[in-house]
Amino acid sequence: MLQFARSTVFKPVEEDIPEIPRYKFNFVEYDQLTSRVDINDLLSDVIGRLISVKGVEESNVGNRLVKRRNLTLQNIRDESLNITLWGEISQNFDENAVQRMSEPVVIAFTAMAAKQYLGGLYVASTSGTSFYFEPDIAKSKKIKKRFSHSIQGIDFIAPSTQKPITLEEQKTMNRLMVAELRALDPYQNQDQKFTTKATITEIDARQGWFYNACPRCYRRVKQSGTSWWCDTHGYLTTIPISWYKINARIEDSTGGMNIVMIGRTIQSLVNKPCSILTIQDGYTDPNIIPPLLDQLKGISKIFSIQFRPRGAFIDATVIKTFDDDETQMLLPAPPTESPKDIPAPLASLDPETPLPETKKGIKKQLFLTKPITEDIQSSPQQHPPST
Ligand SMILES: [Zn+2]
Repeated sequence: MLQFARSTVFKPVEEDIPEIPRYKFNFVEYDQLTSRVDINDLLSDVIGRLISVKGVEESNVGNRLVKRRNLTLQNIRDESLNITLWGEISQNFDENAVQRMSEPVVIAFTAMAAKQYLGGLYVASTSGTSFYFEPDIAKSKKIKKRFSHSIQGIDFIAPSTQKPITLEEQKTMNRLMVAELRALDPYQNQDQKFTTKATITEIDARQGWFYNACPRCYRRVKQSGTSWWCDTHGYLTTIPISWYKINARIEDSTGGMNIVMIGRTIQSLVNKPCSILTIQDGYTDPNIIPPLLDQLKGISKIFSIQFRPRGAFIDATVIKTFDDDETQMLLPAPPTESPKDIPAPLASLDPETPLPETKKGIKKQLFLTKPITEDIQSSPQQHPPST
């Protein structure tokens, strides 16, 4: 941003000035992108020749279906880079126009977010992303020249015919009553997601309601002197962020069970990021539940639950909640209006491949859930991110 103040002076330029370039990119080499993974405020421009284009597909993101298109670029060192375009830009990318272009087709993408999924690096579009076919810059010409005699053409890949799981299917997947869910062997059922319709009856303050997290991976950080340490990312260069983690109890007519809710699952229920509650609203005592979170008590939802390991334990972790239209008819209305889910900014979207519905038998065993009094704070184990 340029600011003109009272003391600003304008002078005409008399000497020759070089031509002002039409584009200004800040390209990042493919091998430098790994160090930028999940740093949301650090966006990257990338360039390469197009080697594959996949048709537009749909993905579940939060509770919405979002359009997605995958592409692959290649740089002059023959390294390839996977690109995911989310939402509108996935449709603005005109595959037919690309088919009419003479190869090699060089493209630059701006303001992309580096991401990792199942161990693989990719860059995803953000709300600020634009793309440029063969921008009039030296780097583009260099790539064009490098591949001018390449016999490898662009691979046009048909979109997958696998339908994403609908919202209704997500809401009813492996539906169990609370007592049935509690009787499952969590170790045998870690790869499954279950749903149950229940009411939050208790918020347990004994292990706190937030922890200090690494801003990149949301894992718990440890303090050493005045610095903070993340087991994955080393010493933090910024202060840690506060991240929700609440132990709670849910109940239905068959009984109750202890659950853990982390990060955005809670943020979407209370409509407020944790750091706003701690920094802006001043609720800095992890052992005193702020009134906003206390209001979760009495809320009825459909809970999507997965058994997730945490050191030697397995937590029944809520991975998503859904509104249930029938709830109001069956149970007393919650004390407060349940806030709407906050749509995630495009920059933080992650592809969520629909899980195949494995018909593996759900092994039921008598399992005693870990008592809610287990001290999580004193555990040296790290916590998986909520999303
Ligand atoms: Zn980290």
